[in-house]
Amino acid sequence: MKLFEKQEDLNALSYKELEAKAQKCTKCVLSKTRTKVVFGHGPVPCDLMLIGEGPGEQEDLSGLPFVGRAGQLLTQVLSSINIDREKDIYIANIVKCRPPENRTPQADETAACYPYLEAQIKLIDPKIILLAGAPSTKVVLKNEEPISKIRGQWFKLPGTDINVMPIFHPSYLLRNASKDVGSPKWLTWQDMKEVRGALDFFKAAKELGA
Ligand code: URA
Repeated sequence: MKLFEKQEDLNALSYKELEAKAQKCTKCVLSKTRTKVVFGHGPVPCDLMLIGEGPGEQEDLSGLPFVGRAGQLLTQVLSSINIDREKDIYIANIVKCRPPENRTPQADETAACYPYLEAQIKLIDPKIILLAGAPSTKVVLKNEEPISKIRGQWFKLPGTDINVMPIFHPSYLLRNASKDVGSPKWLTWQDMKEVRGALDFFKAAKELGA
């Protein structure tokens, strides 16, 4: 970096400008092996946002988040509480380029990408953020407790009034197929009902002008 180079304030950009900037990003090594930048997808603004870990193979090829097997399960989980993926949720990841072999993104990679996510959250202006899995929970909430312990609990996004809930990652649910009471799928169903209730509350409050 040049000495005294002006750091651009991503928070000042429009959604289109921010996405265009991310599409050209070379701030970390993931940019060297990506096919497409997976910036995010969904309406802007949007009451509900989900943040996953990072693009996989299908996402890297298509440029869209959660379109592989885990994404298909996510679509089902969302539709079980009447959430239409195209209309009702904005989906992004903590890194916008695929980590090789789908490894967990490293701290320098998530740190390089975080300013994009932060600016994205400001533009999406969600009431609720779902954090899918431990890596996104660690990055966004700085919380390293096991996901099995903190899933389904409400937190606030530090420095904001945004409600945040960690949930199991859909890939974990794919590996744990049981729907028995107490299983990860069953627990996720309880979490999603809680989210539905919260969304309905915010919708009613908006209608009442509260
Ligand atoms: N897993 C993620 O965390 N994000 C995606 O976009 C796809 C799979």
